[in-house]
Amino acid sequence: MPRLLILYTGGTLGMQASPAGYVPSADFDERLDTALAAYPPGTLPDYALHSLQPLIDSADLIPGCWQRMVAVLATAWEHYDGFVILHGTDTMAYTASALSFLLGTLDKPVILTGSQIPLGEPRSDALNNIILAMQAAAHPATPHEVCLAFHDRLLRGNRARKVSSQGMDAFDSPNAPWLGEAGIELRFFPRQPLPAGRPDFSTIAFEPDRVGLLYCHPGLSTRLIEALLDDPHLQGLVLVTYGVGNPPESQGRLLAGLERAAARGVVAINLTQCHQGRVQQGAYATGTALNTAGVVAGQDMTVEAAVTKLQVLLGKGLTGDALRQAMTRPLRGEMTLLAP
Ligand code: ASP
Repeated sequence: MPRLLILYTGGTLGMQASPAGYVPSADFDERLDTALAAYPPGTLPDYALHSLQPLIDSADLIPGCWQRMVAVLATAWEHYDGFVILHGTDTMAYTASALSFLLGTLDKPVILTGSQIPLGEPRSDALNNIILAMQAAAHPATPHEVCLAFHDRLLRGNRARKVSSQGMDAFDSPNAPWLGEAGIELRFFPRQPLPAGRPDFSTIAFEPDRVGLLYCHPGLSTRLIEALLDDPHLQGLVLVTYGVGNPPESQGRLLAGLERAAARGVVAINLTQCHQGRVQQGAYATGTALNTAGVVAGQDMTVEAAVTKLQVLLGKGLTGDALRQAMTRPLRGEMTLLAP
């Protein structure tokens, strides 16, 4: 019988009501044990439960929390066959992406899950999602990568997005097929496996103010553009543009700012605001100008993947051209390159 480690980090799944709204609850371990004990022995994988202290509402997550999760995985890795991380839904797609880049190759699955309604409340999705994640983590056909399991879907972690704030089908991977789906049985969809190997548990130096995000919109303030692009701490920028990667002209100030930033070594990645699809920088003159300014086409990456990839690679010490090169190619299946 496979043995799993369940790492509880916080989130709605284990929260309880308080006068100020939902807060992480300290007795979640016992409540989960009681709920899972209702199933006959041998029908679920064996598990041990570890709680991250302090528990967090994932809206408060900072990159240092990823190091704490990696540290738990590092000490437990040899003792378990698979890992389930219970996480708040708000930033679960960021954590799934960050862990995929931090850990690199895997030889066991790491599955994140959470819920829209806390465990024990009427219509809660918590138990179903936890059991899905446990069964996936123990299943021999589950790919050895960071995955996100939610509402009967198994998704590649660094392709996942929170797509619904209120629906139970809160996660999807709009630019990548699902890895699997739970009907009466778990079904897996064939994919080219990612390179496997022992994970990298090394500690890295996160400095969050090195990465910025600029979301274009009509009337985008040139003053705000320049404040961000000329910030001396900035080393990686995610630029979220219209359609196939078209930025607003912004009286030439956006392009000039991007060129100044590139000259200082800032690596900028262009992503689309569209729910689905990729950037094709160069389809329009406005996009072509980004090529000239040294902006990297982020292909079909999610914002969550691009932000965390920049944070992790900068934390690993990549800068300038090495960082730019690494941002143009998939590291852990986070982007699809078009055939030349
Ligand atoms: N704020 C909560 C969290 O992300 C929301 C949730 O879990 O659904 O921790």
